[in-house]
Amino acid sequence: MLSFLETDKDLLKYSSFHTPATARYFFELREKQDIPKLHNIWGFAQENNLPIVFLGSGTNILFAFDIFEGIIIRNTLKGIEWKDNIVTVATGELISPLSLQISKKISEKFKTSEKWPHGPDKSFIRSGDMWNSCENRSHSSPEEGLSEGDVLKSTTSEDTEIWTWSSHFTEVFSLFGKWVGLPGTVGGAVAGNAGCFGFEAKDTLIQANIFDMETGEYITLRNKELDFSYRHSILKDYSNWFLVDTIFRTNLISDDTTNPRTFRSGKQPGGFTCGSFFRNPPWDSAGRLIDQVWLKGHRIGGVKVSEVHANFFLNDKKGSYQDILTLRDLAKEKVQEMFGIELQEEVRIIENK
Ligand SMILES: Cc1cc2nc3c(=O)[nH]c(=O)nc-3n(C[C@H](O)[C@H](O)[C@H](O)COP(=O)(O)OP(=O)(O)OC[C@H]3O[C@@H](n4cnc5c(N)ncnc54)[C@H](O)[C@@H]3O)c2cc1C
Repeated sequence: MLSFLETDKDLLKYSSFHTPATARYFFELREKQDIPKLHNIWGFAQENNLPIVFLGSGTNILFAFDIFEGIIIRNTLKGIEWKDNIVTVATGELISPLSLQISKKISEKFKTSEKWPHGPDKSFIRSGDMWNSCENRSHSSPEEGLSEGDVLKSTTSEDTEIWTWSSHFTEVFSLFGKWVGLPGTVGGAVAGNAGCFGFEAKDTLIQANIFDMETGEYITLRNKELDFSYRHSILKDYSNWFLVDTIFRTNLISDDTTNPRTFRSGKQPGGFTCGSFFRNPPWDSAGRLIDQVWLKGHRIGGVKVSEVHANFFLNDKKGSYQDILTLRDLAKEKVQEMFGIELQEEVRIIENK
C-alpha cells in the first residue's frame, strides 16, 4: 500500500451528478512535483489488479458503483503561462475562467492596436477566417484583392501564416468566449474534445504534454496525433496516459456575438447534472428524440429528465446512480422503438468490472 493514497474516499462532491459513491483508493494530484508518484500508483495497480480512473471536475462522468474497487486520481494541477499568442495551461485549471481570461486579453490587445499603419497584427487572423468576420474595417480589401465573404488563404501551407491588409477594428470576439460557462477542467475538455457553439478543443490545441504512468516518462503529442473526433481523443484509449499540460493558440477570433451564458441559462437547466447524457446521433439531436418519446419531466426515484432540455438528466431529489441508469435504459429503449436509433452515452459511466 502506498502511504500517499487515501482509502475509502467519499466521492459525493466529485461528480456533478452528486450521487453517493466511495473509492477504495484515491489520490489528489495538486503539485507537479508529485507527478512521478503516478508511476508508483501504476505499479501498485498492476500488482493488485486495480483499474485507474482520472478525474477532473467530474462534469462528464457517472460513478456507477457503491464502492469502486480501484484508484481514482483527481487532477487539481494549476498554472497558466502566457507567451505571445500561446498559452500553456496545467490541466487542472478550469476551462471557463481560463476562456474568460483569454477573451479579455484578445479584446484588450485589439483595443490597444486599434489602428495599424502597416496592416493589422498578422497573428490575429488565421488562414481560413472569413473576411467579413472582421468588424468595422475602414476600407475593404488590400492588395490581395479580397472582398467581403472571401475566405482568407494562407500564403504557405502552415495555417499560422496570415494574409494582411490595411484596416482597423473597434471590437473583436475571441472564439474562447464560446467556452465561458463550459464546466470542467482543461484536462477533461481535451480528453473528450469538448466543445460548444462550434468551437472544440481540437480547434485550438497545439500540443499536449502527457505523463505515461507505465514508463514514468513524458511524451508530447501534436494536435494531429491526438486523433480528435466528436467528443473523443486518443487519451480516452490509453488508461496510462495522464494529460499534464496543454498548449493552446489564443489568437482565434469569431464573428458570432451570441452570449453563451445567456444561451445556456435559457436552454439548459441548472442543478446536479452532467450536461448532455447522450451524444447527438448524426444529423439529429438526442434531446429532440427523447422529447419526441414523451420523456421530458419523467422521473425515476430522485432523478428526472429535465423539462428544459430532454438530454439533461437532473438529480434533484438525492437520486442514486441506479436511478440514472434506469432512466438511461428507458430513454434508449423508447428512442430505439420509435426511431430505430441507438443512443450512445456521452457521459462516461465508471463501473466495477
Ligand atoms: C451543465 C453542463 C453543461 C455542459 N455542456 C457541455 C457542452 O456544451 N459541451 C461539451 O463538450 N461538454 C459539456 N458538458 C460536459 C463537460 O463540461 C465536459 O465534458 C468537460 O470538458 C469535462 O471536464 P471534467 O474536468 O469535468 O472531466 P471529467 O468529467 O472529470 O472527466 C471526463 C473524461 O476526461 C478524462 N480526463 C480528465 N482529466 C484527464 C487528464 N488529466 N488526463 C487524461 N484524461 C483525463 C476522464 O478520465 C474522463 O474520461 C457539460 C456539463 C455540464 C454539467
